[in-house]
Amino acid sequence: MSRRIALFILFVFTLLLFTLWTLVKFNDAYNALTKDTQLSAWALAQVEIETLDFTHQGEKYLLSEEETKHDLNLRFDILWSRYDTFLNSDETHDIRTHYNSGNVVEEAFAILQKYEQGVVKGDREQLALLLGEMEDVYPKLRNLLTVNFTGLSSLKNRALIAENRQTVFIDMALIMAVLAFFSIRLYRDSKHQQFITWHDPLTKLKNRTYLLTQLKCLNDSKQKHAIVLLDIRHFKEINDTVSYEYGDRVLCEVAAQIKRKADKFEFSCARVGADHFAVIAGKYSIDFEFFVKSLLNDLNETLSRMDRSKRMRISMGVATCQDAIDNNNPYPTKFDTVLNNADFALNIAKKSHSQQIVFFSKKIASEHRKKRKLADQLANLLASSEQNQLYLTFQPIIPRRSDVLGCEALIRWHHPVYGQINPEYLIQIAEESGIAKDLGRWILLQVRHALAVEWHEFRHRIEVAVNLSDSLFDEELPQLVSEVLGTEPNFLDAVVLEITETMTLDDIERSSNIIKSLEKLNVRLALDDFGTGWSSLYNLNHLSFSKLKIDKSFVKNLSTKPNQTFFISAIVTLSHQLGIKVVAEGIEDASQLRSLMTLGVDEFQGYYFSKPVSQQEFCVFCKEYFTQHPLALDVTQL
Ligand code: C2E
Ligand code: MG
Ligand code: MG
Repeated sequence: MSRRIALFILFVFTLLLFTLWTLVKFNDAYNALTKDTQLSAWALAQVEIETLDFTHQGEKYLLSEEETKHDLNLRFDILWSRYDTFLNSDETHDIRTHYNSGNVVEEAFAILQKYEQGVVKGDREQLALLLGEMEDVYPKLRNLLTVNFTGLSSLKNRALIAENRQTVFIDMALIMAVLAFFSIRLYRDSKHQQFITWHDPLTKLKNRTYLLTQLKCLNDSKQKHAIVLLDIRHFKEINDTVSYEYGDRVLCEVAAQIKRKADKFEFSCARVGADHFAVIAGKYSIDFEFFVKSLLNDLNETLSRMDRSKRMRISMGVATCQDAIDNNNPYPTKFDTVLNNADFALNIAKKSHSQQIVFFSKKIASEHRKKRKLADQLANLLASSEQNQLYLTFQPIIPRRSDVLGCEALIRWHHPVYGQINPEYLIQIAEESGIAKDLGRWILLQVRHALAVEWHEFRHRIEVAVNLSDSLFDEELPQLVSEVLGTEPNFLDAVVLEITETMTLDDIERSSNIIKSLEKLNVRLALDDFGTGWSSLYNLNHLSFSKLKIDKSFVKNLSTKPNQTFFISAIVTLSHQLGIKVVAEGIEDASQLRSLMTLGVDEFQGYYFSKPVSQQEFCVFCKEYFTQHPLALDVTQL
């Protein structure tokens, strides 16, 4: 709650107290006034009663000889002192002035004073005169009481005061009610405001501000903590292809799932971006890894239920404060180090095709730094025309019955520090740093150059297999290929593009369209590494490949595992029925070649014939091949 609102509520509360206090005071004043009126009435009544008593005593004295002077004087003295007190005491000052009673009592007192001596002596004549004059004053005395306290106007005044008191009470109550109403509303608004400050309005989870504050608290209090960052990949596509409402539903469902799980383990969670969530584990233990994995399972289940096209995918980055400390400091120096580490791990997970969860570690961080450095260097090499670190090698592919010699282009990077970089690692770096397309174009250009220049004399008798990395296999591929190879002379029919099953599995229809466009260009496709992935026959049947390459792991185990023979034989039969040629790679000895030839394989690749060699060496190989072995391989000669 902000300071200003708290001050305002304090002010309203004080005002309420003040109003109550005023009411109490007003009530006291009213009661005091009533009491004062009652006292006044009583004093005047006493004057009247004493006057009446003296008159009666006087009349009795006049009528009966038996009445004593003593009784008369006693009444006279009482009346005298009553008048005297009334006219001179301070207590009766207000009565004398407010009700104009002073004059009347003074008039009566003057009569007493006038006949004082006569009454003291018991003189009946003087007494009769006194009573006679008193008779004129007595009605005036009585009037004082009736007019001021029992008369119509006095009753009206009292009713008016009572009515005013009621009105004041009602007004005050109304004011208090209005103040209370506004205070409650203000309190509610401020509570709502506070909710908005710390929560995400859509999912009702805590928000990024909360996450950062919580992390700061944990770090300041030196408490062990861990963070899981989650991202829904391809979430935007749901918004774009289904609807924003449905997108919101997915987010709410995912948020609820995360909250349920986090609550179970007493962790807190937050929505930190459009499709980004976080779990903060304040007290994590060995259970933590189990928590992360089971959360992923739950979310995978939720997403596959809500996204039938299976486009969305959860990626998770996990980091603990343990990974953020160094030797000098037992706790992370900056409160957001753990968050940055989790973000770092999340980015790796998002780029990975196989790993949905990445746990941050110093090793991963240094590996990532190395990859980034290599990616920068690779990008520079691709842009340079005078580099000699990056080059292609070519491994011959010998056909069984054809006068066309094949080869596979294989990338090589001789790094000045690290030596030969593993080609698969190189491709991974290019993919993760977003330069895979540049690398793909560079490879195609090298192939084109080799065909056009180095191998010019064998141009029509050579075909080159080019491996494609994941991001190259998209709708832009036909355009790229025709741009590089479709020029004059046209090398499109000399190229076989190798793709792996994982590239096509995601969306068969899309893959089929890309392959059809390539077919129109006269570019053939080979399915590489068959047998290592899903080995889906559905793929073979629905996507038109020209060749299928049996992975070298099958060739290697050919003599030891009889099952491999059945597998290869079945694949060869099926492929031939579909009009697909079968290539075997990784052939290292004559017995493997023999077996594969017996099984009906069409083309052969492996160290048995040649390791991958340079452009020039391949040219020498071609010369030798076309002069010495122009005809097909003969199994009986092996
Ligand atoms: P791949 O496409 O299956 O290539 C065949 C791999 O098997 C090559 O490894 C080749 O040197 C190796 N090989 C061939 N015959 C034998 C043999 O008899 N014995 C053994 N042990 N190995 C043999 P390399 O060149 O290390 O390439 C590995 C992988 O890297 C390739 O597998 C391919 O997936 C990828 N790669 C290589 N060059 C490129 C490229 O230019 N572009 C893309 N996208 N990927 C490439
Ligand atoms: Mg290949
Ligand atoms: Mg292969």
